[in-house]
Amino acid sequence: MGSKRSIRVHPKYGLNPTVPVCFWCGEDTGEVALMGAAIKGKAPSKAIINYEPCAKCKMNMAMGLVVIECTSYQRDDHQVQMQPGAFPTGRWCVIRRESGFVQDMQEPQRSQILQAGMTFMEPASYEKCGFHHPLMDHPATKQ
Ligand SMILES: [Zn+2]
Repeated sequence: MGSKRSIRVHPKYGLNPTVPVCFWCGEDTGEVALMGAAIKGKAPSKAIINYEPCAKCKMNMAMGLVVIECTSYQRDDHQVQMQPGAFPTGRWCVIRRESGFVQDMQEPQRSQILQAGMTFMEPASYEKCGFHHPLMDHPATKQ
Protein backbone atom coordinates (compact mmCIF):
# COMPACT_ATOMS: atom_id res chain seq x y z
CA MET A 1 0.00 0.00 0.00
CA GLY A 2 1.20 3.52 -0.73
CA SER A 3 1.95 6.03 1.91
CA LYS A 4 -1.09 7.90 3.12
CA ARG A 5 0.89 10.50 5.00
CA SER A 6 -0.92 13.72 4.34
CA ILE A 7 0.83 17.02 3.84
CA ARG A 8 -0.37 20.21 5.37
CA VAL A 9 -0.21 22.60 2.46
CA HIS A 10 1.64 25.83 3.10
CA PRO A 11 -0.76 28.81 2.81
CA LYS A 12 1.72 30.67 0.61
CA TYR A 13 4.08 28.06 -0.85
CA GLY A 14 1.72 25.15 -1.34
CA LEU A 15 3.48 21.78 -1.37
CA ASN A 16 6.73 23.64 -0.75
CA PRO A 17 9.07 21.12 -2.37
CA THR A 18 12.77 20.70 -1.64
CA VAL A 19 15.41 18.30 -2.92
CA PRO A 20 16.76 16.36 0.03
CA VAL A 21 20.54 16.27 0.34
CA CYS A 22 22.23 13.33 1.99
CA PHE A 23 23.76 14.45 5.29
CA TRP A 24 26.53 11.87 4.95
CA CYS A 25 27.90 12.69 1.48
CA GLY A 26 26.29 16.01 0.61
CA GLU A 27 24.78 14.74 -2.61
CA ASP A 28 21.21 15.00 -3.84
CA THR A 29 19.19 11.94 -2.98
CA GLY A 30 17.35 12.23 -6.29
CA GLU A 31 14.05 12.55 -4.49
CA VAL A 32 11.71 15.41 -3.84
CA ALA A 33 10.38 16.11 -0.37
CA LEU A 34 7.19 18.05 0.07
CA MET A 35 7.58 20.21 3.12
CA GLY A 36 4.22 21.97 2.94
CA ALA A 37 3.52 23.85 6.12
CA ALA A 38 5.97 21.71 8.11
CA ILE A 39 8.39 24.61 7.87
CA LYS A 40 7.67 28.29 8.37
CA GLY A 41 8.73 29.89 5.11
CA LYS A 42 9.61 28.81 1.60
CA ALA A 43 11.56 25.57 1.46
CA PRO A 44 15.15 25.96 0.21
CA SER A 45 15.87 24.38 -3.18
CA LYS A 46 18.04 21.79 -1.42
CA ALA A 47 18.06 20.77 2.21
CA ILE A 48 19.24 18.14 4.62
CA ILE A 49 15.97 16.97 6.06
CA ASN A 50 17.06 13.97 8.09
CA TYR A 51 19.90 11.58 8.81
CA GLU A 52 18.67 8.95 6.39
CA PRO A 53 21.67 7.92 4.26
CA CYS A 54 21.30 7.94 0.47
CA ALA A 55 21.52 4.66 -1.43
CA LYS A 56 25.25 5.07 -2.05
CA CYS A 57 26.07 5.83 1.58
CA LYS A 58 23.84 3.00 2.74
CA MET A 59 25.86 0.67 0.56
CA ASN A 60 29.15 1.98 1.97
CA MET A 61 27.86 1.77 5.52
CA ALA A 62 26.84 -1.84 5.00
CA MET A 63 30.46 -2.81 4.28
CA GLY A 64 31.50 -2.68 7.91
CA LEU A 65 31.04 -0.78 11.10
CA VAL A 66 30.15 2.86 10.84
CA VAL A 67 32.08 5.21 13.07
CA ILE A 68 30.29 8.54 13.39
CA GLU A 69 32.00 11.55 14.84
CA CYS A 70 29.63 13.31 17.23
CA THR A 71 29.65 16.02 19.80
CA SER A 72 27.50 15.61 22.90
CA TYR A 73 26.27 19.21 22.63
CA GLN A 74 24.39 21.15 19.99
CA ARG A 75 26.84 23.23 17.95
CA ASP A 76 24.20 25.49 16.40
CA ASP A 77 20.48 26.11 16.77
CA HIS A 78 19.54 24.13 13.70
CA GLN A 79 21.34 21.01 14.69
CA VAL A 80 19.25 17.97 15.42
CA GLN A 81 20.51 15.12 17.52
CA MET A 82 20.71 11.71 15.94
CA GLN A 83 20.29 9.99 19.27
CA PRO A 84 20.00 11.61 22.69
CA GLY A 85 23.23 13.56 23.16
CA ALA A 86 24.72 12.68 19.78
CA PHE A 87 25.14 15.49 17.29
CA PRO A 88 27.00 14.23 14.23
CA THR A 89 29.69 16.51 12.83
CA GLY A 90 29.44 15.10 9.31
CA ARG A 91 32.65 13.09 9.58
CA TRP A 92 32.30 9.37 9.50
CA CYS A 93 34.00 6.33 8.16
CA VAL A 94 33.49 2.64 7.79
CA ILE A 95 35.88 0.17 9.34
CA ARG A 96 36.11 -3.53 8.74
CA ARG A 97 34.55 -5.74 11.38
CA GLU A 98 37.77 -7.69 11.69
CA SER A 99 39.94 -4.58 12.11
CA GLY A 100 42.28 -4.28 15.08
CA PHE A 101 40.26 -1.36 16.35
CA VAL A 102 37.30 -3.64 16.95
CA GLN A 103 39.27 -6.67 18.07
CA ASP A 104 41.15 -4.67 20.70
CA MET A 105 37.98 -3.36 22.28
CA GLN A 106 36.84 -4.36 25.72
CA GLU A 107 33.66 -6.27 26.31
CA PRO A 108 30.80 -5.51 26.45
CA GLN A 109 31.51 -2.54 24.13
CA ARG A 110 32.89 -4.81 21.46
CA SER A 111 29.78 -6.97 21.26
CA GLN A 112 27.52 -3.95 21.45
CA ILE A 113 29.25 -2.24 18.56
CA LEU A 114 29.30 -5.38 16.45
CA GLN A 115 25.62 -5.81 17.05
CA ALA A 116 24.68 -2.18 16.40
CA GLY A 117 26.90 -1.96 13.32
CA MET A 118 27.82 1.55 14.32
CA THR A 119 29.30 3.67 17.03
CA PHE A 120 29.49 7.32 17.96
CA MET A 121 32.82 8.88 18.78
CA GLU A 122 33.88 12.18 20.30
CA PRO A 123 35.99 14.33 17.95
CA ALA A 124 39.11 13.96 20.10
CA SER A 125 38.94 10.16 19.97
CA TYR A 126 38.05 10.20 16.31
CA GLU A 127 41.19 12.22 15.56
CA LYS A 128 43.30 10.01 17.78
CA CYS A 129 42.17 6.90 15.94
CA GLY A 130 43.13 8.57 12.67
CA PHE A 131 39.87 7.74 10.96
CA HIS A 132 40.35 9.50 7.69
CA HIS A 133 39.41 7.17 4.93
CA PRO A 134 39.83 9.44 1.92
CA LEU A 135 36.88 7.95 0.09
CA MET A 136 34.55 8.18 3.00
CA ASP A 137 35.39 11.46 4.59
CA HIS A 138 32.65 14.01 4.39
CA PRO A 139 33.07 16.35 1.40
CA ALA A 140 32.87 19.36 3.69
CA THR A 141 36.02 18.26 5.51
CA LYS A 142 38.09 17.72 2.35
CA GLN A 143 40.85 20.24 1.78
ZN1 LIG B 1 25.01 9.90 0.77
